[in-house]
Amino acid sequence: MIPDLLPVRTRPKPGESLSSWLARTAFENGIYLQTFCHLVWHRKPIWNRDTDRTGDHEILHRLASMTATSPQKALATTIRHYEGLVFRQYNASGTQRHITSLGIYHRTHKGYGQTYCPLCLKQNGYFKLSWRFAFITVCTTHNQRLWDRCWRCAAPVCIHRGRWLRCDACDADLRDAPPLRHDSRALIFQKHLQAAIEGQRFWNVPARSSLELFDVVYDCSRALGTRYPKNKAFREAICEIAEGRKNWISSIQSFPYPQMETMECLHRHQMMAFMARILTNWPWTFIACATRADFTSGYLFRDWKPTSPEFEHVVNTFLSYKSPQLPDNFKH
Ligand SMILES: [Zn+2]
Ligand SMILES: [Zn+2]
Repeated sequence: MIPDLLPVRTRPKPGESLSSWLARTAFENGIYLQTFCHLVWHRKPIWNRDTDRTGDHEILHRLASMTATSPQKALATTIRHYEGLVFRQYNASGTQRHITSLGIYHRTHKGYGQTYCPLCLKQNGYFKLSWRFAFITVCTTHNQRLWDRCWRCAAPVCIHRGRWLRCDACDADLRDAPPLRHDSRALIFQKHLQAAIEGQRFWNVPARSSLELFDVVYDCSRALGTRYPKNKAFREAICEIAEGRKNWISSIQSFPYPQMETMECLHRHQMMAFMARILTNWPWTFIACATRADFTSGYLFRDWKPTSPEFEHVVNTFLSYKSPQLPDNFKH
């Protein structure tokens, strides 16, 4: 029997994800996680769903009451909390824009959507919900790129399997993962996006809300493309004009179209590095690079519709002609 109030009332730590909170609750109360879930929620499917995303009311309500946690604090452990801030509408199935996909297969993960910072795990002992955002690829506390797999055997991270904070495939301690280098401009860009969620100034892109900014970001990620020659020329132009990393031009080439949510963390980081450059001095760097790549609005939107009016306006205003006149204040 599980008591109404647990002996150890494990409350969510700042920024903790629901899956982390749930697994830690079982761990700190000395109960095997699967047994704990079975005793509390019986046959309810929990780990063959993306728990952080669904924010199932029954799970949240019971976990909150067993640990004397307020409903608001409990809800903040879920992706649903970011509806209207990062994405417009919560999707029960399919890809959720700007949220990483776990590639759930039965109770395991085939995708690399669960990331972690080994030093944060060492210091705080839990997984942050923000590590599920597609645009978060660097730890801003420790200035290291996030890991998205076991550092020893490369298995995807399954919080709910194996020992706490260890790889379920080889039992390596995730806290021992060595540091990963990052692109400094991708990090600065990421910090702007994080600040936007918290209601701070929206950087130098005209946006009245964080949602509008994230729509511009989404459209830019589509423009970066992956497989087509002109999109590659666009990435080459970014490297030449805005000092990007040339060895990253082709590394994201194999994707038929860019969907950051399903990419591994390194490729998302590379996309962030490219976007950081085209969104700096907006829209002039973007226009210069797009012109160099011979983009026209017709080419760019040949198989997708922009979601951001700002992005659409810039493309339709400046890329309708082969050689648009750049303004005098354009800076390289
Ligand atoms: Zn960290
Ligand atoms: Zn491993």
